[in-house]
Amino acid sequence: MNSHFVYECNSPLVTHEALKNSIIYKLKFVIGKEPYIATQREWLEAILLAARDRIVDRWMTTNRAEYSQQLKQVYYLSMEFLLGRSLSNTLISMNMYDDLVTVVTELGFDFEQLLEQETDPGLGNGGLGRLAACFLDSLATMNLPGCGYGIRYEYGMFRQTIRNGQQIECPDDWLAHGNPWEFPRTESRYQIQFEGHVIEEDGCQQWIKTNDIIAVAYDQIIPGYKTEATNTLRLWSAKASDEFDLQIFNDGEYYSAVKKKNESENVSRVLYPNDSTYSGKELRLKQEYFLVSASVQDILYRHWLVYETWDNLADKVSIHLNDTHPVLAIPELIRILIDKHQVSWQDAFSLANKIFSYTNHTLMSEALETWPVEMIRKILPRHLQIIYQINDDFLQQVIQQFPHDYELPRRVSIINEDYGQQVRMAWLAAIVCHKVNGVSKLHSQLMVDALFADFALIFPNKFCNITNGVTPRRWLAVANPELTEMIEENIGQQWLTDLPLLDELKQWADYPQFLDKLRQVKLRNKQKLAIFIAQTQGIVINPEALFDVQIKRIHEYKRQLLNLMHVITHYNRILANPSKNWVPRVVIFSGKAASSYSAAKKIIHLINDVAKVINNDERIGDRLKIVFIPDYGVSLAQKIIPATDLSEQISLAGTEASGTGNMKFALNGALTIGTLDGANVEIREHVGHENIFIFGHTIEEVKQIKQNYYYPRWYYDNDAELKQVIDQINHGYFKPDAPNFYHDLTNSLLDGGDQYLLFADYRSYINTQEQVNKLYQDPLAWQSKVTQNICNMGFFSSDRTIKEYATQIWNIKPINL
Ligand SMILES: *Cc1c(COP(=O)(O)O)cnc(C)c1O
Repeated sequence: MNSHFVYECNSPLVTHEALKNSIIYKLKFVIGKEPYIATQREWLEAILLAARDRIVDRWMTTNRAEYSQQLKQVYYLSMEFLLGRSLSNTLISMNMYDDLVTVVTELGFDFEQLLEQETDPGLGNGGLGRLAACFLDSLATMNLPGCGYGIRYEYGMFRQTIRNGQQIECPDDWLAHGNPWEFPRTESRYQIQFEGHVIEEDGCQQWIKTNDIIAVAYDQIIPGYKTEATNTLRLWSAKASDEFDLQIFNDGEYYSAVKKKNESENVSRVLYPNDSTYSGKELRLKQEYFLVSASVQDILYRHWLVYETWDNLADKVSIHLNDTHPVLAIPELIRILIDKHQVSWQDAFSLANKIFSYTNHTLMSEALETWPVEMIRKILPRHLQIIYQINDDFLQQVIQQFPHDYELPRRVSIINEDYGQQVRMAWLAAIVCHKVNGVSKLHSQLMVDALFADFALIFPNKFCNITNGVTPRRWLAVANPELTEMIEENIGQQWLTDLPLLDELKQWADYPQFLDKLRQVKLRNKQKLAIFIAQTQGIVINPEALFDVQIKRIHEYKRQLLNLMHVITHYNRILANPSKNWVPRVVIFSGKAASSYSAAKKIIHLINDVAKVINNDERIGDRLKIVFIPDYGVSLAQKIIPATDLSEQISLAGTEASGTGNMKFALNGALTIGTLDGANVEIREHVGHENIFIFGHTIEEVKQIKQNYYYPRWYYDNDAELKQVIDQINHGYFKPDAPNFYHDLTNSLLDGGDQYLLFADYRSYINTQEQVNKLYQDPLAWQSKVTQNICNMGFFSSDRTIKEYATQIWNIKPINL
């Protein structure tokens, strides 16, 4: 415990005094500890609880207003919410950050150190989950009535450590010390049915003899920034259904009672650590149904409580499906309306059509969710009937509308007959939802050109684009206080809720003083990151070097390997010409590989092997350093992004739906090196072609290359530098003790078809990196482009994104507070 802890304080500010007292009160009466013996974590918990108290009134006010104004609400269903830490964000939205710093400092703590103690809830894999978190922030900030529904996984995304260069996965026991932000709602519980069978009685379908689980709600407050409005994130936790266990227990079968209990509670045990590849596990299907059944029951229960009719359901409720994972909400809603409330099939279907909307996040076929018909028949027999009926009705309509296209019904059928019998979840969503959107202009275009081409013909007004965005509160105000302050000094505070106002910074874009100040802000952020890297990784880096960063899930399509090929090329060049005035570079990687994705894990291994060789090569010195920072997550992103000079967004054109990392970096004054993929295309339109480094083949060219039989060996044979890099990896230059270790990796490029065209894009990437170096040597020119990036990022606020959803899809209006 801290020695200069000041118990009594005569601060002149009443608010400080009250705040301090409430912290000490929480410590004593909620946590049950004396200030003198409490650990730092217990103090943090007391602080979190005291901060939480101050948003509870707002929460209740908002809930009351929503209730009395009877507004339409959006319910955002997502298997993932990647929130990050909440304390700083909450304090900033409440405008009490500085007050708390003062109080905590008076109590004798280092505030930044204390913030680091908060657990980062890793209830998501990557971009999709983080998008959901940005959306909740924007909804609340814009006073829009909404609520997130997800799963309270007991174990989140695995904790990644690196041993001997390899990824090691440890359980992420994020609830070990409890979660001070959540309110358990033990009274909000719903029965979730599985398995059993369906019988018909008096024309009604009854789903009977099921194995049941109870879903219990846990609520977390999502505060809006500088508004009274808040939102709720409701997460479901699985509990064994009581009656069931007790019976077995009473029979003296204690072990099997516990076993049953454990099995049913497995449903919310752990987040599937699969990023954008489909996982075909029965447990995953159960998780998805668990989320949607609890959420739909909750939505309907609350609606009935207020209106006592289903007639206006679609006027009051909008349900959004974040990717296909919650698509079972469609047959679930229909089932409950028909089987429990005697609504007709036509009315139930029509309500579902008006209520549901769906966002598509990927076009990659291996990531499209399908479930074997037999698995759904076993676990959700009633839902399979409903899916069949939706399909039958739809195919009838298609045959009438397009009587001469004999192939069409087979292509658009929800049931794919080609590989056994599979239920195509994206098709179910596309048929029933009234709107389907992609996440960037490019992606949405590809969506209607390829994946949903048939459906776009059948439903011409269904498909639209809503380009992703990120919340400037977390990604500037929380993550980069120095840059935030500098912007505020110049244009005030309004821009944090109206990001296009950043445009006003343009007037300073030519002032060397402004540009130099911007450089200094960046430098201080880089110094902080350098200290963090020295402390955690034991690698000393030069803060003046160009910080070149690629942090995201490790995936072949994201091409971390291409980045690494540049690193090795750069290394070879320095060795070949040691006396040249090289621009010093620090290349930073961070990201997790799905535990079953061996190619991605091998890339992590190679990054670490290359780092080991280059970082220890005395001929190189600090001209080139490679750092792999383990355990990528929101908190780490908040540290790294403000310290980045160069943002790597180098996926093969046509593979990244949008990306949101790209937006966070540009907003924080990094320049992008990237392909014309996802939202990079729109970032280029906004910041200007001259302020972004674009390289590589376009989508059309990629299509051409693939059609004309791509021959990667040609590039290898005709590019000496490329050949050298591949040979070094192949011959064990970076792994002398196991020289054959990377054969499969190089083979997949040389002879395995190089699916992501690393070789085809290599030369243009290397040349573009040369231009980056050249520009970096001219700090004013560099900072001037940085300024153009920051000024023009207004479009990429998730506030704009949410406004578009609210008007084009959900039809919801702000609450009057
Ligand atoms: C923004 C973000 C992502 C998404 O990054 P991309 O570069 O768009 O793939 C993933 N994980 C975390 C923790 C993030 O903050």
